[in-house]
Amino acid sequence: MNYRHAFHAGNHADVLKHVALLAVCDALVAKPSPCFALDTHAGRGLYRLGSASAQRTGEADDGIGRLLVERPRTPAITRYLAAVEACRAIHGHDAYPGSPWLLAYALRDSDRIACCELQPVEAAALRANFAGDGRVVVHERDGYAAIRALLPPKHGAIRYGRGLVLVDPPYEAQLDEFDAALAALKEALARWPQATCALWYPIKQRRVLQPFLRKAARLPAKSALVAELLVRPDDSPLRMNGSGLLLLNAPWQLDSTLQPALRGLQGALGETGASTRLEWLRSPA
Ligand code: SAM
Repeated sequence: MNYRHAFHAGNHADVLKHVALLAVCDALVAKPSPCFALDTHAGRGLYRLGSASAQRTGEADDGIGRLLVERPRTPAITRYLAAVEACRAIHGHDAYPGSPWLLAYALRDSDRIACCELQPVEAAALRANFAGDGRVVVHERDGYAAIRALLPPKHGAIRYGRGLVLVDPPYEAQLDEFDAALAALKEALARWPQATCALWYPIKQRRVLQPFLRKAARLPAKSALVAELLVRPDDSPLRMNGSGLLLLNAPWQLDSTLQPALRGLQGALGETGASTRLEWLRSPA
């Protein structure tokens, strides 16, 4: 199966990823010790939904556009929409926050954020977007290799006990990218066992992902949770019908936060036959 997919800022998959990302960050900052976040495939951090390319696909209209109209009343979605509106208050009405922007928004002065981006033009835009923020370091490099270079995280005398590794690859290697991402998560956990790790993945047909999920359940984490949103039935192998997040070492009660959020996203963004799934592949001990 062709698993290549094009990244569209603000579509249903991006919205799911970003709602969950904020929920993880909020759980991390609930404790006073500083956190570290590594975003291995960061993108440019801030997008313009009014640009010609974004307008051409219209994907964001069916994602963040609809969510802003429907506004499901669940805490994680309300929190996410407040972040989007805060981003627009600073950067203009068509701005859309990428994962680095959301990390910088949710984390504190004492926390640190490392963002990797391989494409020079995207990396330059990312650097420019965070030029004034001393917490954010941009690395123009391969995000998988950065796991070996940057973990376990330290900054001067600070050793970070808690934090997040977000792996959000473009799946250009198609199904092989799942194995590359799982190997990267295994490496991240070996170097930083307490880290919460989040891997985003596109869903065309769910059954194709069974081997990936079986391997994910065997990763050396304390727990493994999957949160998925299918905006239509997964009967067509030609489209991205939904997406999911694999969450390793998920913060306590993240499932209780995500369950109503998934239902809210399904109600706002789903077509006939939409569905969600929240399941522990491995329950916390
Ligand atoms: N995480 C971003 C967000 O949520 O806003 C979106 C990232 S986009 C899906 C994937 C990005 O990864 C692209 O900007 C692409 O240039 C970059 N990329 C592709 N291969 C990479 C690699 N091996 N290491 C780092 N970045 C890579």
